[in-house]
Amino acid sequence: MIDPYSILFEPLAIGPVVARNRFYQVPHCCGMGHLRPQAHAAMREMKARGGWAVVSTEEAEIHPSSDLSPYAEQRIWDERDIPALRLMTDAVHEHGALAAIELAHNGSHAANLYSRIAPLAVGNMATDIGYSRQARNATKKDLHEFRQWHRAAALRARDAGFDIVYVYAGHRMTLTQQFLLPEFNDRRDEYGGSLENRVRLIRELLEETKEAIGDTCAVAFRFAVDEMRGSDGMQAEEEGRAVVEMLAELPDLWDVNVSDWSNDSITTRYQPDEGYQLPYTSFVKSVTSKPVVSVGKFTSPDKMVSLVKNGIVDFIGAARPSIADPFLPQKIQQGRSDEIRECIGCNICVASDNMGVSIRCTQNPTMGEEWRRGWHPEHIEPKKADASVLIVGGGPAGLESAVQFARRGFLVTLSEAGETLGGRVVAESGLNGLAAWKRVSDIRIYELQQKAGVSIYTSSRLTVENIKEFGADHVVLATGSVWRADGIGRSSRSAVHKLEKIKVLTPDNIMQGELPADGPVLIYDDDQCYLAGVIAEHLAVKRGNITDKGVVNNGIIFVTPANSVSPWMEHTLEQQRIQKSLLELKVEIHTGKQVVSVADGTVELQCIYTDATSNVRADTLIPVTERLPVDALYEPLQQAGVSVELIGDAHAPGLIADAVYSGHLAARGFLADPKAAEAAHFMRELPALD
Ligand code: ADP
Ligand code: SF4
Repeated sequence: MIDPYSILFEPLAIGPVVARNRFYQVPHCCGMGHLRPQAHAAMREMKARGGWAVVSTEEAEIHPSSDLSPYAEQRIWDERDIPALRLMTDAVHEHGALAAIELAHNGSHAANLYSRIAPLAVGNMATDIGYSRQARNATKKDLHEFRQWHRAAALRARDAGFDIVYVYAGHRMTLTQQFLLPEFNDRRDEYGGSLENRVRLIRELLEETKEAIGDTCAVAFRFAVDEMRGSDGMQAEEEGRAVVEMLAELPDLWDVNVSDWSNDSITTRYQPDEGYQLPYTSFVKSVTSKPVVSVGKFTSPDKMVSLVKNGIVDFIGAARPSIADPFLPQKIQQGRSDEIRECIGCNICVASDNMGVSIRCTQNPTMGEEWRRGWHPEHIEPKKADASVLIVGGGPAGLESAVQFARRGFLVTLSEAGETLGGRVVAESGLNGLAAWKRVSDIRIYELQQKAGVSIYTSSRLTVENIKEFGADHVVLATGSVWRADGIGRSSRSAVHKLEKIKVLTPDNIMQGELPADGPVLIYDDDQCYLAGVIAEHLAVKRGNITDKGVVNNGIIFVTPANSVSPWMEHTLEQQRIQKSLLELKVEIHTGKQVVSVADGTVELQCIYTDATSNVRADTLIPVTERLPVDALYEPLQQAGVSVELIGDAHAPGLIADAVYSGHLAARGFLADPKAAEAAHFMRELPALD
């Protein structure tokens, strides 16, 4: 039989180098960068092991005038950065992949908080990083120097062992893109005005990089063909296409996407489609004879084959799918596509980078732990002795733990009180926009169903007595958490007064399908993460009071002590979309307010700054403030001498990513050999003292 996916495994030349197949991990941030080089190298190495043909760095600052501190990006300022980068290229090469580096100068996107050099931009302008020191206009001399810096960085990249070196104009974050966009570029010299002039700097960089290293390294161009802002920005069918036409044969590879980062890495909540960028990027291949790579959360092998066969791309680009499953290519090649852990598009990976910490992933708990804990996404230490393990609760923590205990070879029993497995994942995936999140439980349930030595019981709520009677050698409590109903949370440690005067529904009630009666509903968000915003959207859409004049007031009121809706979601690049969505759905938003008490038909709010109070009419209150761990089984079992541990939300409520991680950690740690146990106290990258 002919392998339907063989086309994906054809080697392909990129300039002077050859990729072993068509799987291309495009540059992506990871919160490791120059600060955590060993962790970075091991994480990239895992992708190479998993079969990716090209493994790229995140953006690499070429000069101290492009300093993204406090974010941990890659750095290639001078020769001293080469050894750390060499760790990655050696590790990637060892597994037959090519290593790529995305050289970057961030123009007015870099505030240079560490180097304290005045930021350099296409003109005099504010930086977009929220610090009031402005960027200065780049003179002709500056541009000459800038080209020298880029050339020198390319030479260093070659010396560090990279096979592909990028020129980068994307994400609304780079100096080159800012030269391209008339919105930033109002220069009157030969770098401003016509498109030919605005493209000049990019052309020079491409030519000079090729001249410097083109005999041994491929030169890639990462270019955002469309800003998704209509005629207010670059459009694929206008100047985007014109740029590709002008530079068509200059780079050895076109890596094309959309801008800004929130569009390129849009979450499934706001864009569920696989290949969502193709309507913008698919023209590129018809303009150039050079290979083209593009992204769009590709996880389906059939879709990948059709993209290649139909001449839309040459390489399947991936950032998030390669994070969720570093072994995606190998699984396709080995006919194990059903084992692919598909990305759910939640952007917790992106959030890590935005918080300046090492990458983590909801689907792949080993992501970011390759070096510091020695974790591998597909392998785990087999058991050294027999033992039976009872896992109580089949949410993300329990499921992940069950999978890993089973992989180790222990006898696993999973008992779930509800009729179905999945816990909060299934509950939350029933809300507006979160359907893809169910992949977290689907892939784990699927694996458990294939495994010998695993017994699963649903509709089986266990008590202390049941558990003692069962007599497992080890008990893992993954019993989750419940949302508080009293309004206690981050902003107030006392309950809302007179709560008995209003109908209260918790987020759990809503996720179980209960809907508030007609009349105004007040959602009180002191969690300040995603759930309250999701519930507001969910209820507004369900009420759907849409007339021919648009949405009318649908009686959904959103109150938060924060200054914006769902502020933490800045980290996932979603905050603006969430606030826009609620405004468009005519949700009534009150920021900077706490809910303090209730009277008949009204809720009293208090301004967090002035203490001034005001009233809003509401018949139902949905507090989204804090959760209570469901941990009542723990203490009595411990007292009874049972070997027991608490994991996931029952231990400390958090993100789904935290629950999965906790389930994984528990399985790794159980009866582990001393070396693995030592790794439980993770390794740290300590600065070397000169
Ligand atoms: P986590 O995110 O930590 O996995 P979840 O809340 O998603 O937590 O899942 C916890 C699961 O545990 C829920 O599906 C719940 O029905 C189940 N559960 C809670 N208590 C018991 C119990 N005593 N016996 C069996 N299952 C339980
Ligand atoms: Fe995908 Fe979420 Fe993992 Fe990022 S954290 S790779 S978006 S599953």
